[in-house]
Formats: sequence, structure tokens, C-alpha cells
Amino acid sequence: MAQWSYEELLEKNRRYLWNPFTQMKGYLEDEPLIIERGEGVKLYDVQGRAYYDGNASVWLNVHGHRHPKLNAAIRKQLDQIAHSTLLGMANVPAILLAERLVGLAPARLQKVFYSDSGAEAVEIGLKMAYQYWKHRGRPEKHVFISMKNAYHGDTVGAVSVGGMDLFHASFSHLLFPTLKVTYPYPYRFPGTVEACRQACLDELIGVLEEHGDTVAGLIVEPMVQGAGGMIMMPPGTLAEVANICRDYDVLLLIDEVATGFGRTGRMFACEHEGVEPDIMMVGKKLTGGYLPVAATLTSDEIYDAFYGELYEAKTFYHGHSYTGNQLGCAVALANLDLYEEERLLDHVQEASCRLAEWLEPLKALPHVGEVRQLGLMVGIELVKCKETKETYPWEDAIGAQVCRKAREMGLITRPLDHVVTFMPPLATPLADLQAMVEILERAIREGT
Ligand SMILES: *Cc1c(COP(=O)(O)O)cnc(C)c1O
Repeated sequence: MAQWSYEELLEKNRRYLWNPFTQMKGYLEDEPLIIERGEGVKLYDVQGRAYYDGNASVWLNVHGHRHPKLNAAIRKQLDQIAHSTLLGMANVPAILLAERLVGLAPARLQKVFYSDSGAEAVEIGLKMAYQYWKHRGRPEKHVFISMKNAYHGDTVGAVSVGGMDLFHASFSHLLFPTLKVTYPYPYRFPGTVEACRQACLDELIGVLEEHGDTVAGLIVEPMVQGAGGMIMMPPGTLAEVANICRDYDVLLLIDEVATGFGRTGRMFACEHEGVEPDIMMVGKKLTGGYLPVAATLTSDEIYDAFYGELYEAKTFYHGHSYTGNQLGCAVALANLDLYEEERLLDHVQEASCRLAEWLEPLKALPHVGEVRQLGLMVGIELVKCKETKETYPWEDAIGAQVCRKAREMGLITRPLDHVVTFMPPLATPLADLQAMVEILERAIREGT
């Protein structure tokens, strides 16, 4: 690519490329970054400048970029075959990865259904839960409970169970209705953390008392609402939600797309509270941040409801062209090997403790309302006024301003409105982690 200058590439971007989640006007006016290569936890742009990948390329990267073992796994698979279909036939790495995932996941989850993105994994989970009740002779159970301020991806079904007005409100007429309940947000709750937790649980019970007979399932981001602003559940909430779902005969769908594969310090966030979902979606870090593979894991009880003779019409009619892609599954297997070889979860736990120390001084900054952290998942909520918790107006794009500063200082991350996120690659060495936090601190000081 080096034959193209920055200016030439920028002009081609302007003419031909529409970037996701990006207001193209502001983007094109503000010296867009054009990345040429990566190395470890750094990205390099076409002008040769280096940046820390402070959000793991939007929550994906695990072991750093261009890891020799992951690169080798793809090359090795490439010499066999790049892709063949999973519709009505199978392939070697897709089978082996399914076995591996079932071994890692909570015990109830026994079958793996692949797709290419987190949003698709969510669609699949919703359709499975919906059709499960039909096959069980309970078609009246067809409604989902989802959380206010939730994010489950951008396809229409995933948006229907989402709850972020900024992203979702304009599509309202396209969406199927769901029952929305409040996700606990202690920082903005007028009362104690315990009262906040209880209020949310009471609200959920109230909805189930009224509509329980029609509810197919409840979908939730475990422990942390990611894109909603890194909002963290008080301890005990998730376990209680799971109990309530069992009491009311409602399937529990857990979206581990952001939290799965060690982000929060456990392999899956639901392990923090020993929760066993009926359906679990994974994506993002599954391939180490290399290729688009996602999966919906489900119980044998659900799988068995679809199992029968063709004429019984129980087949799950869902699939995508690249479902079970061999290159993706091969690199996912190598990624999971590295978790073991490098004892990665131990590193995440140690790094999380150090990170907590290094984040401590940020809490004293005049415009930092709250610093939230679980494992290597961090949200720093900026406020105009610390005492009143008044937020900056949305149009001020305060988070974007801080992230722009951080970029000038050599760190890339993205804001969620007025929350600055920090999601480094899991294997980030401690010295780099500390350097990243120092940049964040300076960027917040100068950018607010
Ligand atoms: C990112 C994300 C998704 C969507 O995943 P894509 O691969 O971007 O479609 C779904 N759920 C959660 C919790 C996520 O963070």
C-alpha cells in the first residue's frame, strides 16, 4: 500500500468509502487516521506514526497485532482450504472449535451455532428462543424482555432488543416490540447501591407478574452494559436475574460479545455469579481480533426441541454464507491455545489490579464523575459538574474531544457519548498499560 500517499488515500476515502458509526463530514474534515499496519499493542498509520491500540480495535484484539502463532495458524489453514459451507456438511476446524467452546462455557451450554458477527449471534439466539417455545407447544411465549440502554448490535432484531436512543430511536417503526426494564446504574440512582439493585429487580418481577405467560426470554449484557456506557451491575444482580427467569419459566439469553473471553477477568462474565444461561452469544475476541466469527451457544434442551424428522418441520432455517469459516475457526483455536499457553486470565487479573491503582488519580480530576472498571473493561464518565453530576450537552461531544487529544498523544480509543472507554488488548504488557493510562489522564486533563 505504500505506493499511495496519505493525501491520495484520503481522497479515495472521500470519494468511495462510507465508514460505520461515523459522521462523514466531521471525519473527513478532521485528518482521518489511515492505518497501514500493526505490531503488538500498537497501530501504525500510513504516515508512519505509532499509536497504542487503547480500545483493542473496538474490543476485539487479545494478544496484540501480527502475533506469530495466530498468523501461522491462518497460513496453515490456508494451505488446506479457506472456506467451504457448513450447510448440510461440516469442516474440521468448525467441529474442533465447537468442542472447545462447549468445554469452556457454562455446563448447560452444549451446542454451538456459528455466525459472522455479534449482531447475528444475537439474532440467532432470539430466533432460537422464539421457535423453541413454538416447538414446545407454547406459541403464546413470544415476547422478549430487554434492558433499557442495552446494546446488542445493529441488525434490526438486535436493535429491537437494544435500548440506546441515540442509535436506535430513529428506527422505531422497523422494530418488534419488547418489554424494557431498567439496568442498574448506581452512579445515577438517587439512593444506595443496594436500593438501586433492588429497584431494578422489583421492576423485573413486576413486568413478569403482569406479562410472564407471554415472555419467551430475557436478554442481558452480563455484569457490564458495554456500549451503553460501561455501566456495571452491583454484585448479586445477575444471579438474582437468573433466579427470577427460572421462577417465571423464561429463557435467559446472555450476550457475552463484549465481556466474553476474559475481558472482565473471568472467561465469561456470567461466571462471576455462577450463572448458567440457556443461550449465550459470543463474538469479538473469539478469533483474537483477527477474523469475523461469532457463535450462539445453547442448551441440549433447546437443541432437542428442534431435533426430529424432516416432515415434523422443526429445522432451524437460519444460516449465513460464511458460517463456520475455516480460516476464522482455525485462528480461533490458535487464539484459545494461546490463552492457555500464556496463562492469559492470570495476566488479566494481575493487570486489572495494577490498572485499578493507576486509575486512582483520575478520580480526582475535576470533570471525572466516576471511573468504572471490571477486569480490563473501563469507562470514565465525564461530567460538567462533579457535585451535581450534570452531564455535558450531547452536542459538545466531550468524549470525542478527549479521545482526539489522546490520539495526538499516541493513544487510540473511542468515546461512548460522555464516557471515555479504555479496553486494551488483554495481553498488553504492564509497562504499556501504565503508559496508556498516563496518556488518558493527560488527555482528560487537557480535553475537559
Ligand atoms: C459489539 C457488541 C455486539 C455486536 O457485535 P458485532 O460483531 O459488532 O455485530 C453485540 N453485543 C454486545 C454486548 C457488543 O458489545
